[in-house]
Amino acid sequence: MKDLLNEQEKERYRANFTYFEYYTDIYKSSYDMQKKIKDSHVLILGLGGAIQDVATLASLGVGKITGLDFDTVEYSNLNRQYIYKEGDVGKLKTEAAKQRIKEINSDIELNIINKKITSSEDILPLLSNVDLVISGIDSPGIISSRWVNFACVTKNVPVIFSGINGNKILINKRSGEGCFDCFLMYCSTNDPIFKYQLNTLYGYTFEKKNTAIAPTVSILSGFITAEVMKHLLNLEYQMRAGYMYQFDVNELTMNSDYHWEKSSQCPTCGKNPSKELCDITTLMKIVEGHSNDT
Ligand SMILES: [Zn+2]
Repeated sequence: MKDLLNEQEKERYRANFTYFEYYTDIYKSSYDMQKKIKDSHVLILGLGGAIQDVATLASLGVGKITGLDFDTVEYSNLNRQYIYKEGDVGKLKTEAAKQRIKEINSDIELNIINKKITSSEDILPLLSNVDLVISGIDSPGIISSRWVNFACVTKNVPVIFSGINGNKILINKRSGEGCFDCFLMYCSTNDPIFKYQLNTLYGYTFEKKNTAIAPTVSILSGFITAEVMKHLLNLEYQMRAGYMYQFDVNELTMNSDYHWEKSSQCPTCGKNPSKELCDITTLMKIVEGHSNDT
């Protein structure tokens, strides 16, 4: 199977092969695994903190990466988005990303799109032949995750959502189980203050309150990209869908107790899914109606 990769790739990914030997069996070799990574396509929505994910996946050898953003590199991004350099300030993130990622790995197919996401419809056409999506957009608050969720549920593409809140790093994967709208419905039913928070955060732009710093962004990116690798290789140990993983940077602990089920009432992934993303008022009415029934 060694002819699957050329000589340069065998040299470049030598330590990957050694790592993959932990997971090889009679059906697949380390080379097969690197080839699988090479044949994969990952879509990264947002090239802010997620530019680190692009860099890591390019370094790992993911063969096709599509990245999307519309913003420019700002001086205040450099505290954490360190793939961008001082000379990139003022440039479009897409332009700077193209240059930086090509410098990291010129062999991969890099498809960078300059576009602002304003609906699920903007995301749906990007999902053809995509193995996994990393959602790196968190603004406008909550609704942007709902756009990504709706598109990924519709096309049945797994997606990783994440966030940083001070010293807490949050990450979850949707892959067939309860979706992001199920999560919102679960929280609204079980957490009395959630509805208040939802009203405050929905559609909100976070930039001025951003608490992300280089160390937490690096840790988060490590979790995300390790998960992407496990997913692409279909390894046994993967994050469970429908669970919120929360890493505490101070305590160095990972908590995954928070779990939500898929709701049969969910307008996005339930029994009678709607053709378009329902608005948040409708979603909350479903929660109230369901609560009254039980
Ligand atoms: Zn759902």
